[in-house]
Amino acid sequence: MKIGIAGGTFNPIHLGHLIIAEYMKCKFFLDKVIFIPSNNPPHKDRNAILDATHRYEMVRLATESNPDFEVSDIELQREGVTYTVDTLEELHSIYGNTVDFFFLSGADVVFDIRNWRSPEKVLKLCTLITTGRPTHNIADFESGVKELVNKYNARVLTADSPLIDISSTMIRDRIQKGLSIKYLVPELVEQYIINNKLYIRE
Ligand code: ATP
Repeated sequence: MKIGIAGGTFNPIHLGHLIIAEYMKCKFFLDKVIFIPSNNPPHKDRNAILDATHRYEMVRLATESNPDFEVSDIELQREGVTYTVDTLEELHSIYGNTVDFFFLSGADVVFDIRNWRSPEKVLKLCTLITTGRPTHNIADFESGVKELVNKYNARVLTADSPLIDISSTMIRDRIQKGLSIKYLVPELVEQYIINNKLYIRE
């Protein structure tokens, strides 16, 4: 079995996350994709990021119509900062060794992953599937991928998926400016944000 892992803060989830996950699922014949929202950061950063229960609920709403998408609260069950290496170890112990894990990511992760806890272990526990983002130039992205392969002996798959110029930052900014987020997030997520008055600056 091949399982895609889409980890992120999802603050909030947007169509970029969903389009890329579906594209990668088809391209690499994944059986399903599990979305794993990260836990709330430690106390000092609390104001920087929306509470995990809201972020989780928006991921749930965004993915409920796709039978191949699941949401997991595995990181929400853990106290404090959550590390991808712990999540992957837990998933391996839950699913056993008949499953291969594929961590889905955008270009930013190619550069950030070396600052994560135990990058070499993370890259042993999964194959990284990654794609460019309009924020990153292609040549840098390609050399970042090569470096991961050389430095960590990582298994990395790349795909020419559509470049989607949407980020959670963009969604939050638009809400704060009173601009529409229609067609940038799924309708159910838009409604959830409006109903709960999320991301509006006090
Ligand atoms: P923020 O703007 O708050 O930094 P984000 O839009 O990058 O958020 P995250 O939840 O931090 O979203 O990202 C989770 C994962 O999804 C990361 O691997 C990120 O690279 C990927 N991702 C997010 N948006 C896109 C996009 N438009 N295209 C490709 N990958 C994306």
